[in-house]
Amino acid sequence: MALTDEQLMIQEAAHRFASEQMRPFAGEWDETKHFPVEVLREAAGLGFAAIYCGEEHGGSGLGRLDGVLIFEQLSRGCIATAAFLSIHNMCTWMIDRFGSADQRGQWVPRLATMELIASYCLTEPGSGSDAAAMKTRAVRNGDHYVLNGSKAFISGAGTSDVYVVMARTGDETARGISAFIVPKSSEGHATEGLAFGANEKKMGWNAQPTRTVSFDNVIVPVENRLGAEGEGFRFAMKGLDGGRLNIAACSLGGAQDALDRAVQYAGERSQFGRKINDFQATQFKLADMETELCAARSLLHEAASALDVQAPDATKWCAMAKRFVTDAGSKIANDALQIHGGYGYLHDYGVERIVRDLRVHQILEGTNEIMRVIVARSMTATA
Ligand SMILES: Cc1cc2nc3c(=O)[nH]c(=O)nc-3n(C[C@H](O)[C@H](O)[C@H](O)COP(=O)(O)OP(=O)(O)OC[C@H]3O[C@@H](n4cnc5c(N)ncnc54)[C@H](O)[C@@H]3O)c2cc1C
Repeated sequence: MALTDEQLMIQEAAHRFASEQMRPFAGEWDETKHFPVEVLREAAGLGFAAIYCGEEHGGSGLGRLDGVLIFEQLSRGCIATAAFLSIHNMCTWMIDRFGSADQRGQWVPRLATMELIASYCLTEPGSGSDAAAMKTRAVRNGDHYVLNGSKAFISGAGTSDVYVVMARTGDETARGISAFIVPKSSEGHATEGLAFGANEKKMGWNAQPTRTVSFDNVIVPVENRLGAEGEGFRFAMKGLDGGRLNIAACSLGGAQDALDRAVQYAGERSQFGRKINDFQATQFKLADMETELCAARSLLHEAASALDVQAPDATKWCAMAKRFVTDAGSKIANDALQIHGGYGYLHDYGVERIVRDLRVHQILEGTNEIMRVIVARSMTATA
């Protein structure tokens, strides 16, 4: 797919930012579990925090294909940081797309600069893949709702200023779920009843926190509800279409980085008196990695284009791309580690971090099994 001059410029800007502001520090952020909020705000300065939001409220007015080009480059700098930015973009877009004029004016400009940081709250301890079975409830009482329940695995929780929360306002089906904008504080006062768990100890994604978020009689004004009652699950799923593209783009960037490192290492390391890239086994592995990476990129760009034109089957394309690209990305990163031999297992070589960071992309924003459920459902529904 030929990129336009503007897309090439955006790609180059993201690449330069990742090379200068992220890549030199990614290993340290992982080791010290540092969430580089200041770097995220600099990325926001380039328009990367509200990529496909309208320009009216400070968004960049770009498309989904532009978005995946950006996230592929940023994740070559730091996968965990780029992936968090993807979640922030998803929340910002949900408010920009489904919010009222007042909500958009109030929240989007400050989310676009990352003066405010956003988290997405869908998963609960008892409902992951079956997200519509959530128990968190929002009960209306005059001009406000009272929220009770808890969310699990929330990226950015504790640090984020704004929580896009899906909660039950009606019956036990997906149509009984609404979405709310819940601020961590307002007018300098912490939101009463909103609490965060300890930072989870994780295999990867260490440069961003993951915590539970709990609601104990949290008062949320009616004007903070996104859209009408009952529309929350649909908004959450629409957000995830784009989220899945971006998570896949982060796998692509991480895998490209791992492959680049493997090519370089294979040209430097000698065993049995020859460079290891003289062995056909290494050459074939590199050839397969390159082929699978290019195939993954093509599918991802196709899926992003389907969402850009709002194709009726865009959700299926996003699910296919998320499943294929994140599986391919993890395999390529793991093969790159193998080419590095024992050195690949050492932190200093950077490849083991890529393997750890990419693994979760096969699990979150819908597991890759659930991606197959979505694809198969769309095929059998029309058969
Ligand atoms: C680091 C991290 C960050 C996260 N960030 C966020 C966040 O910011 N916001 C948020 O809301 N959530 C977040 N999540 C949650 C994530 O989206 C869920 O973990 C994921 O959706 C899976 O849910 P689960 O963990 O409950 O697994 P389960 O749903 O219990 O699944 C367990 C296994 O069963 C399989 N399975 C379940 N149902 C089916 C089925 N119908 N057919 C076939 N197989 C099935 C799954 O594929 C999986 O292999 C995060 C998770 C992690 C690990």
